[in-house]
Amino acid sequence: MFSATRISNKLCPNIILKRISNNLQDGKSIASLASLSETHQLLYKTCKDFAEGELKPIAAKTDREKIYPKKQIEEMGELGLMAVCIPENVGGTGLDYLSYAIATEQISRCCASAGTIMAVQNIYVNALNNFGNDKQKEEFLRPFTDGKQIGSFSLSEPGLGSDASAVATKATKKGSNYIINGTKSWTTNGFESKGLVLFASTDKSKKHKGISCFLLKKDFPGFFVGKKEDKLGIRGSSTCSLVFEDCPVPEENVLGELGKGFNYAMITLDGGRIGIAAQACGIAQASLELAVDYASKRVSFGAPIAKLQSIQVFIFFFIRTKSPKWH
Ligand SMILES: Cc1cc2nc3c(=O)[nH]c(=O)nc-3n(C[C@H](O)[C@H](O)[C@H](O)COP(=O)(O)OP(=O)(O)OC[C@H]3O[C@@H](n4cnc5c(N)ncnc54)[C@H](O)[C@@H]3O)c2cc1C
Repeated sequence: MFSATRISNKLCPNIILKRISNNLQDGKSIASLASLSETHQLLYKTCKDFAEGELKPIAAKTDREKIYPKKQIEEMGELGLMAVCIPENVGGTGLDYLSYAIATEQISRCCASAGTIMAVQNIYVNALNNFGNDKQKEEFLRPFTDGKQIGSFSLSEPGLGSDASAVATKATKKGSNYIINGTKSWTTNGFESKGLVLFASTDKSKKHKGISCFLLKKDFPGFFVGKKEDKLGIRGSSTCSLVFEDCPVPEENVLGELGKGFNYAMITLDGGRIGIAAQACGIAQASLELAVDYASKRVSFGAPIAKLQSIQVFIFFFIRTKSPKWH
């Protein structure tokens, strides 16, 4: 089902929907909202309205109390935001990366937790779409496109961050299974996710060329969810360590080719960076709006502090740095 169809059910007139489904490539500059295609403007408005109406009111509690916003994530799934760039024939939304950035920014502007959940979910489905075979897509992608189930992408380890080639988690072939042993860290959505794209070494001697990628379900034996990190923010999105103790993974769950995991991770993270950047823009936009609002209302020495030149300079530099694109 096309996202626009889903969006249409909630907010959009049919005529515009038809254009959305037919027109996803515009190639125009993204310098301002007006320069976006009608498709992208409509998506922007839909996401903005949804985020302001459904996410903003729950964002503070979500963050303070570390609540996974299940209902809202399912609604985002109905809008097509959990598989933005995935073709419709496997249950995705069929939009482009610009759409993904617009949506992620608007969601993150009102709830950074929901933005993170959405961004990493899209990383998960993108990896499946790019490298999975038809059977894997049916099992690990299609059921993960509507927000009812989410997935995780697990590369980092306690001793592995920026240097993604240093994977220590091992996958050892035994009969028709790979036996996984190791610990992953910082896995977004790790607590709630039902599907996992996991990177493990099938041949340590080959270094990054010995890393392979596996598809796991949460109920596989020997797969344990470890510590949930107590973060400073974005706390409605879980960040977990995952532990694998002799966890058998069927060989048909190897994603793509053996030994290509590092390439798959890098390609997938290229798309992921767009989501992270869009998240940062959304959060910065919200911060700017709050700062301007506060400066306009806070009275000191008989006048709003927004009238003070030093405050105006702060806000000016904030706007210059943030450089909002489509506002
Ligand atoms: C909230 C959150 C969610 C996350 N979600 C996921 C997830 O879903 N899946 C996943 O696999 N991982 C996830 N991560 C892990 C994230 O990808 C890593 O934190 C990141 O790769 C950096 O690794 P590190 O924290 O070990 O830092 P390190 O690699 O130890 O780096 C520490 C510092 O050194 C700098 N540095 C390192 N190498 C170089 C270099 N060569 N040149 C210059 N500077 C360098 C870094 O920029 C950084 O400032 C998440 C992390 C966080 C905080």
